[in-house]
Parts: sequence; C-alpha cells; structure tokens
Amino acid sequence: IYILGIESSCDDTAASVIHNGKILSNVIANQKIHEAYGGVVPELASRAHQQNIVPVVDQALKQAGITKEDLHAIAFTRGPGLMGSLLVGTSFAKSLAYGLNIPLIDVNHMQAHILAHFIDEDGFEKPPFPFLGMTISGGHTQIVKVDNYFDMDVIGETIDDAIGEAYDKSGKILGLGYPAGPEIDKRAQLGNPKAFKFTKPKVDGLNFSFSGLKTAILYFIQKEIKSNPNFISEHLNDICASIQYTIIGIVIDKLKLAAKQTGIKHIAIGGGVSANSGIRNALKEGENKFGWTTYVPKFEFTTDNAAMIAIVGYLKYLEGNFAKQDVTASARLKI
Ligand code: ATP
Ligand code: FE
Repeated sequence: IYILGIESSCDDTAASVIHNGKILSNVIANQKIHEAYGGVVPELASRAHQQNIVPVVDQALKQAGITKEDLHAIAFTRGPGLMGSLLVGTSFAKSLAYGLNIPLIDVNHMQAHILAHFIDEDGFEKPPFPFLGMTISGGHTQIVKVDNYFDMDVIGETIDDAIGEAYDKSGKILGLGYPAGPEIDKRAQLGNPKAFKFTKPKVDGLNFSFSGLKTAILYFIQKEIKSNPNFISEHLNDICASIQYTIIGIVIDKLKLAAKQTGIKHIAIGGGVSANSGIRNALKEGENKFGWTTYVPKFEFTTDNAAMIAIVGYLKYLEGNFAKQDVTASARLKI
C-alpha cells in the first residue's frame, strides 16, 4: 500500500510517501523568510506553501520511485494550525485524490506527532499501549494518554505559552535569533544550570504554564543589566543553562505526576522540542530513577514532517477510515 502524506499546518511544506509502514521519501521545504520577522507570518506562509506544494509532492514521488498512479490514498493535515496554511494542503490533497479517484484521509497534526513512533525505523522501538505521549513543540505542550492509535485523551496541556515558545521568547529577551530553542540548548550544555534560580510556576494537576517564566526572565535581566550592562554577554551560557534547568524541572514534575496518576510508565515524546538534549537526558535518567521506559523518535520525525502524516494515513487506511469529499481544514482541531 502506497500512501502520500501532505503537511502544511505551519511554515513547512512537506510531502512523504510511505509503503506499508516504511518511509520511502520525506521531503520538506523550509520557509526561511520568517526568520527575519522573529516568528511565522501567516500570510507569507500560505503564499510559500502555494509555491512549494507541487514541487515538493513531485520530489516525494520521484524519491520514492513511484508515480502518482501507484498511490492508494492521499493523507493530509486537516488541523490544528494556521488556516491559510492548512487550506493549501487540504485543497491540494482533495483535488489530487479526486483526480486519481482514490481515498482521501484527514489527519490530526497532534495525533501525528505521537503516532510518528509507529513508523518502521531500524533501531527505534514502538511504544506498547497504553503509553503516555508528550508533545512538546512550538505551538503545543500536551500529555496524552494513548490507549490505541485513535483512542487518545489529552490529560494535561499548557494554559498559556507552549514549551517551544518559552524557549523562543526567552531567546528574544536574550537577543538570540529565531527560533532560539536550539541555541539555548547548545549554550545550556556549556553553562551552570544552578547559576540563577527561576521559580517554577504553580499549576495544579497535569496542566502547564510557561508565560510566567518568560516574565521572570525578563525582570531578572532588566534588573541585572542596570548594574552591569554586559550582564547577558558575560553570563549567556549560565543564563541558558538555568532556563533549561527550570524548563526540564517543570516537564519532569508533570510526567512524574502523570505516571503516578495513570500507572503508566511508558513515555513517548514528540514535537520539535524533543530534540532538546536536556530533556532527552532527563528522560533517560527517569528510566533508572522512576522505572520509566522512554521513546524518542528519529529526529526528522519529531519536527514538522509529512512522514508522520503518511503513517497516520496508513493506519487509517487499514481501518478503512476515510474522509468525505466535503472535509474542510480546521485550525483548532482537537485530539
Ligand atoms: P505545533 O506542532 O505545535 O504546531 P510546530 O510544529 O511549529 O508546533 P515544531 O516544529 O515541532 O513546532 O518545533 C519548533 C520548536 O522547537 C521551536 O519553538 C524551537 O525553538 C524548538 N526547538 C527545536 N530544537 C530545540 C532544542 N534543541 N531545544 C529546545 N527547543 C527546541
Ligand atoms: Fe508540529
């Protein structure tokens, strides 16, 4: 079974061909234009998707060594995401499926970040059900109880900023480029995590809050700069390490609570922030300290990609779970 997956929820245009569980191609066109604005500009994103979508799909088919007539179904991201971006992928997928007279499969982007773990990949184990999925990305921070592929419940999520935003907004305060997550991570590994202390937000239960941290960092920097204008440059690695230490603490506290409440010790992470070295190390430590088994997908399947859309397409195809032809994009689609 050959499935084409199409992803266009934010600023990356991506297409992937999957043959049964195995990825044959995974093409992605990044939109560099947003870096100059320090964040994604929706209007520019949808325009770039419009330019990229045909060449990206074409390349995905070529790399897979098939033609569009070989496809059995088209899977696309229905939401959540930016409406203008989603519309490009949705309309394209609908037209292509209609033209080829094959099934159309709608995919929830956040489910896909979790189900990326079910891509067949040498050296990567698939989590057994039930497991806890944690999606940590630029737009989301969720803990999801996963009982089966399409039987998932969000048991905790952020009430304000996403974890990736916490990184990016902290980076902005420090004068770093966008997105700042990777650089803060790199510098954190060279600094002292206990150099500065930022208090963790008090949020009951399994929900998260990250907006207070950003404000705490802002006030802290403003205060220090008064007595030492070079404070940031002189202490940048220590500041990054301290921010990272605080964020990891928040994540691990919530995972501990989720594992305790559900009795589930299999933990699978996804989303762009899963690249974070500190979070990866803390999860590994959790294996010894708390008896967890943790799962981290291959890097290219953690940030936005179409392979994760294709694998969900394949899993839905096996169940005969297809979209109707009048399906529409949904910016706030829930799990
Ligand atoms: P969503 O899936 O919620 O719509 P998104 O797809 O835009 O959001 P991703 O592409 O999954 O988000 O992740 C991007 C985020 O990951 C950015 O905020 C970026 O700073 C962050 N990030 C990437 N690498 C790292 C890292 N090593 N450490 C911390 N953050 C990182
Ligand atoms: Fe994403």
